[in-house]
Amino acid sequence: MSNTLELTFADVVEHIRNYINNEEDIIRIVEAYDFAFKMHEGQFRKSGEPYIVHIIHVANILATLNVGPQTIIAGILHDVIEDTEITEEEFIEKFGKDIFTIVNGVTKIGNLNFDNLEEYQAENHRKIFIAMANDIRVIIVKLVDRLHNMRTLKHMSEEKQKRIAKETLDVYVPIAHRLGMFELKNELEDLCFLYLDRERYFEIAKMVEVRRTERDNYVNQMIEDLSNLLSKHNINFKIFGRSKHLYSINRKMKKKNLAFDEILDLLAIRVITKTELECYEILGYIHSIFTPVPGRLKDYIAMPKFNLYQSLHTTVIGPNGNIFEIQIRTEKMDEVAEKGVAAHWRYKEGSEYNPRAEQEEIEEKLHWFRDIINLTDNQEISDATEFMQHLQDDLFNTSVYVMSPQGRVIDLPVDSTPIDFAYRIHTDIGNKAVGATVNGNLVPLSTKLKTGDVVQIKTSKQSTGPNDDWLSFVKTSAAKSRIRSFYKKLEREEREPIIDKGKIVWQKELEKREIEQSAFTTKKLQSTLLGFNISSIEDFYYALGSNSLSVTRVLERLVKLNKTPEEIRAAKPVLRRAKDVSSSKYGVEVAGLDSMMINLAQCCYPVKNDDISGYVTKGAGVTIHRDSCVNIEQERERLIFCEWVEVDTNPKYESILIIEANDRSNLVADIIQVISQNKANLLEINSRLQTDTMSVTSKVKINVNDLQHLNNIIANMRKVDGLHSVVRQGDRHKSAVK
Ligand code: MN
Repeated sequence: MSNTLELTFADVVEHIRNYINNEEDIIRIVEAYDFAFKMHEGQFRKSGEPYIVHIIHVANILATLNVGPQTIIAGILHDVIEDTEITEEEFIEKFGKDIFTIVNGVTKIGNLNFDNLEEYQAENHRKIFIAMANDIRVIIVKLVDRLHNMRTLKHMSEEKQKRIAKETLDVYVPIAHRLGMFELKNELEDLCFLYLDRERYFEIAKMVEVRRTERDNYVNQMIEDLSNLLSKHNINFKIFGRSKHLYSINRKMKKKNLAFDEILDLLAIRVITKTELECYEILGYIHSIFTPVPGRLKDYIAMPKFNLYQSLHTTVIGPNGNIFEIQIRTEKMDEVAEKGVAAHWRYKEGSEYNPRAEQEEIEEKLHWFRDIINLTDNQEISDATEFMQHLQDDLFNTSVYVMSPQGRVIDLPVDSTPIDFAYRIHTDIGNKAVGATVNGNLVPLSTKLKTGDVVQIKTSKQSTGPNDDWLSFVKTSAAKSRIRSFYKKLEREEREPIIDKGKIVWQKELEKREIEQSAFTTKKLQSTLLGFNISSIEDFYYALGSNSLSVTRVLERLVKLNKTPEEIRAAKPVLRRAKDVSSSKYGVEVAGLDSMMINLAQCCYPVKNDDISGYVTKGAGVTIHRDSCVNIEQERERLIFCEWVEVDTNPKYESILIIEANDRSNLVADIIQVISQNKANLLEINSRLQTDTMSVTSKVKINVNDLQHLNNIIANMRKVDGLHSVVRQGDRHKSAVK
């Protein structure tokens, strides 16, 4: 496979000597190469070439980016940890901790399998990449490695080509863009374009080719015109025509829905000069001759892009009405524009390369770039500090990226634990987890994970399930809800036999009373159960099965609400003792409620042993009405079951009797006598004469012990002379005295 034009390492060293003069550095670079050569000996790439060819090319691309010697050495050694047997100690001893860190970072990123991430989010993958890299030099080496792999992608299967090209476009290209490495970015984009959409790629390439001569003529004419113009002004300049790369032509056509001919800045010219001031001067001269297109002037010198890109951009109408995009910049700006961060460090302290400063400067840049790395080209951000803080949090504080031993990357919120990791992998892994190792060491399950940790979960078939105190330290809501639902399921399993038992209890009670199941609709049963604070049929069976609800009470209630008078009579409540005297000062027990505020309704005045229902009022507890009360007629669904119970306090119940009688002397005295003879307390008496009928209506408010007591009073009252009727307040129909 060798040919005479093949790049050799000697060529690479020559390139390096163009900008690195320190002989010690050159020697270290050559030594690294010799070592890599030995280590990769006998290894071949898919293309059939010896592996070292890849290394030579990576080193060469790095040299064209003018990176420092440490970065070149790391590039030369970038596959040594992954592909050979060398140990960490050996490596550090030979090349130092710094280079080890870079190469180790490159290896780690290489093991990321972006394809395996659960949700496909390119933006997320970029963050993972950055967070894992942790050193700008790692990213540079990795980008260069990827560039060479893309250049040699034709040796891979078509499926692999597509996958790698997509990953490159989604993850690597945006990073190169943000680092301002445009040359590399453009080449990556065109290679991705070729492998992802071969047909379209060649279509555009052909269109560019067809127009080349014509375009070249226009561009040459413009270059000549500009050169004449600038020469008159005694200014330093170089002018180039420049062609757009295919990917960006395609993107522009698609995005703006333009035909090939309509793409404005296809005719592009770049003017390079010495100083910033000269850039503005040149711009002025150009605008004095050629009409600028409004809104297209961009001053990235005064306001550099976040990737440090600086240049003046203008668009002018040239000879024959052709439109030209012109970029004006200094040599230094041009190099930064093409090579981005990789080249920038050289200009920090004059043009003299200082090897000792490399590390420091790169470190400084690193901070800078960590901050800006995820930034779009948004120039409008006014509060940079706030934005940086936000970005910093977003990038480094909101997520940790950890790996499974198979290299699967999982992103988790900060402070996540191995249990969060386990549940993210699979619910069963979480439920059966008994231990965890992080980077090979056994750790407590509550350990907080860090980016880059390799996490392995130990599971056991004997595990009876998650521990409920995991809830106190897990961070992800997924883990929380899965632990909870495990317990719910467990509870369900325990409930099942009780529910079955409850069903049988219900069936038997219905059979005993010879009631058809179909006598009640499910809806009726459910609304009745609401009265017992039971919201589902299942809970009802559970309550029956666990003896916490009396089947008789439910059935009585159900029958009552279905208003079968015979059934109501058949189902007389049994008096029981109140459990909680304080909540039952009237001797009323409300189903399902222990300490509820209970009031007796002031419309129907229920007394003990009346048929009653509870009516839940907003904020005022439960009001007890007589079942016959008109006020609850329309509200059956809101009623809850309650019943009378024995209490030690012997409460008295207010009742109002409405008495109609002929007007005669001593009537009131006779009424009062009935009340006192029956040992009831008179609370109030009002009498009103109806002049038209000459009758008297008296309202008598009394205290009674219970319904029996009240009924005795009413019966005796009816014996009073001249009485027409006596009814309780709240009764629907007045019954005439017999
Ligand atoms: Mn490689």
